[in-house]
Amino acid sequence: MKNVIILGSTGSVGTSALEVVRNLRHQYKVVGLSANSRWDLLAEQINEFEPKSVSLVEGKWLDDLQKKVPEKSVRIRTGKESVCELIAQEDADIVISAIVGAAGLPAAIEVIKTGKTLALANKEALVMAGNIIMPMAKERGAQILPVDSEHSAIFQAMMAGNRNEVKRVVITASGGPFCNHPKEKLSQVTLEEALKHPTWQMGQKITIDSATLMNKALEIIEAKWLFNLDTTQIDVIIHPESIIHSLVEFCDGSVIAQMGLPSMKVPIQFALTYPHRENGNVQNLDLAKLANLTFLQPDMDKFPALKLGYEAAKEGGTNGVTLNAANEVAVQAFLERKIKFTDIAKLVDKVIQKHNFVQDPDMKDIMLADDYARKETKKCLL
Ligand code: NDP
Ligand code: MG
Repeated sequence: MKNVIILGSTGSVGTSALEVVRNLRHQYKVVGLSANSRWDLLAEQINEFEPKSVSLVEGKWLDDLQKKVPEKSVRIRTGKESVCELIAQEDADIVISAIVGAAGLPAAIEVIKTGKTLALANKEALVMAGNIIMPMAKERGAQILPVDSEHSAIFQAMMAGNRNEVKRVVITASGGPFCNHPKEKLSQVTLEEALKHPTWQMGQKITIDSATLMNKALEIIEAKWLFNLDTTQIDVIIHPESIIHSLVEFCDGSVIAQMGLPSMKVPIQFALTYPHRENGNVQNLDLAKLANLTFLQPDMDKFPALKLGYEAAKEGGTNGVTLNAANEVAVQAFLERKIKFTDIAKLVDKVIQKHNFVQDPDMKDIMLADDYARKETKKCLL
């Protein structure tokens, strides 16, 4: 029996992770869960999975939560620090981090400090502080397993050879809802249109990131850190059907792809069961029924976020944290209908250009850059 903590259990990846655990109940026990404010869903999860302890960041919902779980002997922690306390104090083999945004960074670091295995969906943590996280994981002997579908695909495809035989990776992108939309009309797209992702059901932030292709920008930086790649070894290709989740090209010309119908349950389960595989509760892939898989070169003029991602990956330093923070603020402003869709990448670009670049940032530099980028982006909104 393995003990699992699921952070961000009330979100899209979090609930899929619980579905995976429900299917593998004989092998995995949920010992901890965390949510930000959705106490009602957290209560349902406590009643079903009976974790030893949970974290609810927004403490004002504590009474409501307690009333919903009267019979359970669960320890409930609240406040910002409660996620790290849960990680430090619960005995777990693996922690799935499905918190959205920069809020996931302290949690990722805490998991590594405690030497637990980190199954990471929260790509923003690596984008912000990959230069700190990766060496720390190595030093502490903590394993980081990718949950992001593209990175899980690369991780699985890399198992076909040795690391020093990898020539390049190709990250696939669905292209989002505006793949075939004319560039000139992108500034007029609505929030509702941007939230309609063609192939994946996800949380709002990553759905907007997928529409701007900022998600792919974040994934380029994530891949660089996770697999220790040079930016020149990372390509992106648009693949609207989302059947091939990414590819690895080896030095002999062999290209290994990982495929399957789009479902986050597959990469989540692989991170849980690695290095083994278990029966999955997913639909079979019927290639004849699909008939066609299509591929397109990404258009960086139409989707400037992608270009920003490549540049930030290449330059390194504080560019990643700045890109991420400015994007979080800009996406929130778009969700609140304060800016146009095309303003998101423009704002991010502007703040990256303006910020005080540090080549090899420590944690303090990273937090300062994050703070600066948030304030500066908000200033640009006024
Ligand atoms: P959701 O918005 O659906 O869920 C986010 C989760 O994080 C919720 O449980 C939420 O709690 C919690 N949360 C939000 N803010 C905070 C905070 N300040 N402190 C602690 N917890 C917080 O996001 P997704 O599940 O879509 O995405 C989660 C992460 O996984 C992101 O980094 C995303 O990029 C990545 N990812 C997602 C994929 C997907 O298919 N959705 C695919 C690949 C990667 P509450 O519900 O209470 O607000
Ligand atoms: Mg992805």
